[in-house]
Amino acid sequence: MQTRQRHDWDLVRQYARHGSQAAFDELVRRHMKLVYTTCRRELGDPWLAEDVTQVVFLILSRKAGMLPPGAIVSRWLFKTARFASQDVRKREARRLAREASLRAQASASAEVDSGDVSALDMALLSALGSLGRSDWEAVQFRFYEEMSFHEIGERYGISDDAAQKRVSRAVDRIRRAIAHEGICLTAATIAALIGSENSQAAPNTALQRIEQASSLPGSVHSGALAVQSKIYGLTKGVLTAMALKNMATAALVLVVALTAGAPLIVQGQSNPSAATPAVTAPAGSADSNSLPFTIVLDPGHGGSDSGATSSGPGRVLEKDLDLAIALKLRDLLAAKGARVFLTRDSDVYSIPSKRARIGVNHHTDFFLSIHCGSTSRETISGTTVYYHAQNKAAQSLAVSVLNGVAQQSVLPAYGAMSDTTRFTNGFSILREQPSNAILIQCGFMSNPLDLSALTDPEKQTRIAQGIVDGLTAAASSRK
Ligand SMILES: [Zn+2]
Repeated sequence: MQTRQRHDWDLVRQYARHGSQAAFDELVRRHMKLVYTTCRRELGDPWLAEDVTQVVFLILSRKAGMLPPGAIVSRWLFKTARFASQDVRKREARRLAREASLRAQASASAEVDSGDVSALDMALLSALGSLGRSDWEAVQFRFYEEMSFHEIGERYGISDDAAQKRVSRAVDRIRRAIAHEGICLTAATIAALIGSENSQAAPNTALQRIEQASSLPGSVHSGALAVQSKIYGLTKGVLTAMALKNMATAALVLVVALTAGAPLIVQGQSNPSAATPAVTAPAGSADSNSLPFTIVLDPGHGGSDSGATSSGPGRVLEKDLDLAIALKLRDLLAAKGARVFLTRDSDVYSIPSKRARIGVNHHTDFFLSIHCGSTSRETISGTTVYYHAQNKAAQSLAVSVLNGVAQQSVLPAYGAMSDTTRFTNGFSILREQPSNAILIQCGFMSNPLDLSALTDPEKQTRIAQGIVDGLTAAASSRK
């Protein structure tokens, strides 16, 4: 518990100098609520707020070495959270507008975002942003770190009463600033609003995701790299925007560092027709026309994003397994008369949202994202098939594919489950996909038996065959 007493700045230095994960985790624990509630208030949307919360901590992890000595870390996080939220909101609005016009819908629906954010939320944020240092600290300790007056008093070496007065004074400043905007509230109401905001406290899952993000590029893969890639994309965008805005710290250096270590994200995605990837024409074989569908295959990761890696000698990269299995799957599907599109057919990185959009463009009947997983427990083994949220069609597809693979007796069935069992919002690659979409995590690279099957070309073919069988069964029952 002695970390409790350590100042934020010491933790930042510990992390920057020695890469102390414990110090970083402590920073996340302390300031998660501050960052999440700020993003939530700025964005309105709880899902996006979770993503941007991760972005903010990822930026902290990248910038820890560049914060000026003695910086008020919580204040820096608050400002970064606001900046990142505003930046992401702008780009989300643009993305929505693009998608709306893509689908030839009325442009009216493009301006979704800012309407959700109340005038009170905005006034509160700007009041918080204008607080002086000591008022800010009082608010941070009391409402975001949830310290008692006694604890705050100890922090400053003052009495409990004096601590309470200090907090009251800060709240009153906020009250007056808000009143200035024409919104009159009591100090008690404002005190209740600051920490709890219009929604619940930050969900636990967000914390888990952030812890995951802070150890990027992920050595431990959880089958969720699609989500992580999205966070990378958002982070890079925000960092670029920060650099453009010429903020005090050297953000440009970071953009370069991030580009070097992370997937290359291109701003302003190319138009949909240019995004069309490799196409496999249906095989002319008279053999079969039993799968007259359009199917998009999405081999996970690629390029600088390796996905999971095996431990031990001869490191195996998930991206290579994902691609190998997907290519075998492509050939088997094409032989059954399917029109098959791949989001990648070589070792390149592709943006998740662009991947998902390929499915939309081609009026996909089925969208299959191919992955392999890894966990810290070596004994866990088998195939997992994920579907999005409560999507019934995707669920029965997932069960069918799981059974198909299991019948090949290469890997046991681990389960078919909703992606929301992993993350409150599920996987972005499935979320953005309107069709029958599933994410197949073929096996666990952390399990020696699974790994030997996953790396064996003949067994890869059998896994792919199992997927085809499951898909065929699901398609025929659909008719
Ligand atoms: Zn993966």
